[in-house]
Formats: sequence, C-alpha cells, structure tokens
Amino acid sequence: MPPLTFESFGLSQPILTCLANLEYSEPTPIQSQAIPAALEGRDIVGLAQTGTGKTAAFALPTIARLAENIPATKQRKIRALIISPTRELAAQIHDTIKRFTTRVPLRSTIIVGGVSYHRQKHALQHGVDILVATPGRLIDMIDQKFIDLSAVETVVLDEADQMLDIGFLPAIRSILELLPEKRQTMLFSATMPKEIRKLTTNHLTNPLEISVIPETKTADRIEQKVIAIGQKAKMESISDLLLEYEGEQIIVFTRTKHGADKVTKRLGVSNIRAAAIHGNKSHNQRERALQDFRKGKTRVLVATDIAARGIDVPGVGLVVNYDLPEVPEAYVHRIGRTARAGASGIAISLVSTEELGLLGDIQRTIGVPISAFDTNGEPVELDIPRSSGAKRSFRRGGGGGGGQRRPRGSDGNHRKGGNAGGNRSRGGAKPEGRRDGGERAEGGRGDKPFSAKPRRDGQQKRSGPPNGKRRGGPAGGAGGGNRSRGPKVA
Ligand code: AMP
Repeated sequence: MPPLTFESFGLSQPILTCLANLEYSEPTPIQSQAIPAALEGRDIVGLAQTGTGKTAAFALPTIARLAENIPATKQRKIRALIISPTRELAAQIHDTIKRFTTRVPLRSTIIVGGVSYHRQKHALQHGVDILVATPGRLIDMIDQKFIDLSAVETVVLDEADQMLDIGFLPAIRSILELLPEKRQTMLFSATMPKEIRKLTTNHLTNPLEISVIPETKTADRIEQKVIAIGQKAKMESISDLLLEYEGEQIIVFTRTKHGADKVTKRLGVSNIRAAAIHGNKSHNQRERALQDFRKGKTRVLVATDIAARGIDVPGVGLVVNYDLPEVPEAYVHRIGRTARAGASGIAISLVSTEELGLLGDIQRTIGVPISAFDTNGEPVELDIPRSSGAKRSFRRGGGGGGGQRRPRGSDGNHRKGGNAGGNRSRGGAKPEGRRDGGERAEGGRGDKPFSAKPRRDGQQKRSGPPNGKRRGGPAGGAGGGNRSRGPKVA
C-alpha cells in the first residue's frame, strides 16, 4: 500500500498549501490513523506523547470540519474547544492552529491564566471559532459569563494524564457537562491511568483508540546514561557537565522550583546562559525564557516537570535529569524533549544513592537497563533495590550481591551519601510543590565533581561517558552505553 498523503485525506487546498509551506510532507503515524476518522466525526482516544505530531492529528480535521460550514454572520460562536493542562502547551497548540488557518477564514484565540483578562475578553467578544484554553482560566471565564459553550461541535482534551496530575480532572468533568451532548470528543494522553480511562468511558462515544507509542517506551534514538553521584556533588558538577556539551541546546530537569532556581544561578556563575521555567514564574517570564531558548539566546533551560510538559523545541541535543522524577513516566516525557523530529539525543541522569529506588522503577518501566558511570566516567554497577522503598546504595565492588564487574572509580562516597539520606518519601506530592529534599538529605562528603576536561572532537563528545576519561581508556568503549548518537555526529 502506498504511504498515505495529506491529499489522500481529502483536506482542502488552502489547508494543503499551509501544510506544504510548513514542510509537512507526509503524515506521521498518529495523523494517518486519527485524521480520516476525525474527519468523519468519530470520537478519538489517542495514546501519544508530544513529538508524535498529535497536535496536527486533532487540529487538521477540526479545522477542516469547521471550514466546511463557516457562518455567514460576522458574529462567531465557539465551535471547537481545545483544553490543555499548561499555558506553554496551550500557546504551542494555538500557534499551530494559527499556522494551519492562515488561508482559512476561521478565528481562534487562547485563554490561559497568568495574563490579564482584558485582551482575552476582547478577543472573545469579537467572536472566535476555535478556543484553546487551560482549565482554570476557562472555568473562571465561564463563571463570569464571558464564554458560551453551547455551540461547541468538537472538544479536544490534550495531555489528559497531565490534567489529572495537576488536579484539573474535576474542572474537566464540569466543562464537559456544559457542552452539547451531540459533539465530537478527542482525548490525547501519554499514559492511560484508570481515572482517564473512566473519563473516556463516561464522556466519549465509541471512540477509535489509537496508540502510537507504548507508554513505557523511550525513544530509540536517545542514548541514555546514568552518572552515579552524591546529591551535594551534583551542584558542584553541573556546570562542568554542561560545558562538555558546548554548542548543544540543553534542558535540565529538576524536581522542584527551588532546585531549578539554584541550578540556573549556578550555571550563571559559570557563564552558561540559562533560564528557569517553573510554576513560580509569571506567564511572560516563562514565554520569554522559552522564546530565548528557541532562538538559541539561552543555551540551557532549567525546568520542572509541569512547566516543561509539552515543550517542543526541535534542536535539544541533551536532557539532563538533575534529579530523577518521582514517577517513572515523567522520565519518559523528560527525555522525549530531545531527539525531536527524527534527530537523535542524549539523556543523562544524575543519580544519588537515595534515588536508586526511583532508577529501578524507571528501568522496570522502560524495560531496559541504563548504563551507569561514576564521576570519572568508569562504568559502575548499581545496587538497585527491587522497589523504591528498599535500602539504596551503590555497590562498592564486585563482591556483594552477585555483581561481576568491580567499578574502578571511587563510588564508595556514594555509600556515605546513602547513609546520610534515605529519608525522602515517594508520597504523592506534586513535583512543583515539594521541597528540595534531596539536597537536604545528602551527606555527600568527599563526592567528586566531574572531571572538567573539555572534549576535543565532536564524535567523542557525543558517544562516550560524560568526562575526559573516555579518551582511549577502556571505559570509553564500554561507555558507549546502549546506542550511538547517530545523524548529528556524521
Ligand atoms: P506534536 O507532537 O504535535 O507536538 O508535534 C511535534 C513536532 O512535529 C512539531 O514541531 C510539529 O510541527 C512537527 N510535525 C508534526 N507533524 C508533522 C509532519 N507530518 N511533518 C513534519 N513535521 C511534523
């Protein structure tokens, strides 16, 4: 069977021209599956992350259907409602819709928190066909009677699992109750927790279910590594690590807002241009940070999970997990910020002894072990507990616990760190709300920083463990980890 084309879906010429201008030459798998069904008006449940092309998968059929029936009157009513958990994702979706509608006479606007009501109210009074919104501000504007949802024909819930995480599910349910019963509903989610499954059962009608990525699968093109390091030593080493990846666009993830600010400050001291995005930053600050990052004005974005969700910046070559996320699926999302649009990428996780349980959870979730190195770039075996609640320590030598390989670098320090820590609970607190407990818990005395030796050539820079030891030594070979970096190296 020949590959599907956008033309084969029967999309109108103005939309096809927009797609050609955007250099969308052929549909991605989720688009191939979702667009024909959505054009027929079917409900859709899409199990897919950002990066799969899911925005176009719901936006194109929505636009096409609305465009078939443009009201003659000047006064427009909201006929498509797209709900996103975060402002950043909402802005990205709205931007995509604007691009798809440059030749189609449909109006759209965005309603998100953190910015003045004035412009948003003005846009709504003017009348729009497509509304992109975050749940909080949407409810607020509905309550103020600025939004009438009685003419909605299509509703899209994007990143539904993230809405659940942030606690938006009750708001979503009430919004759905306000919509006409006869409508099309599309729901996209990277994972399918049971609350989201229930939502689909209660609010969607005979949906077509599409899964483009098994929820636990990390992108094949991402080379993943762990560096075993004490919690305190992370701060001492982060600048050196990033300096080794000079020229790369980098996202550093921290679990807390406080951690993001501290890392950003530290990078600034080393003259690395970095900006933080997290829930305490204003909408404008977050937008500016993202724009500067997109344009390459800042090289490093330091982000919490919630703020970074859905960020799509094509050139990100490296993701650093300054701390591991509490939830394994968040690891998959984080590292998915690299290797966008067919490129390859590297994901490095700094893992303290207290985090070994979380690492175990992640490895079990993604189904593959992640190569681990000490701070000298020597391969180490990690003593990963069966569950994250168990005792956590790095294996000191080959003797204990059945390990065959004796780590050559000094990882005994991590054991010290482990004794000092281990008091962090995994409880269900939201990532942005937590204190930076790791730093508090870490003893870390004597932890070594990374060797700061700069890389001399691009190839080694990208494929070995993250320090100068890779050159010529046996660690370099073993340190290649699971995959080589691919196209960018060549
Ligand atoms: P999304 O998963 O919707 O966030 O899309 C990820 C990225 O892929 C965005 O930068 C899109 O512009 C791009 N993209 C989506 N679909 C296509 C396509 N069919 N061809 C080329 N680029 C695409």
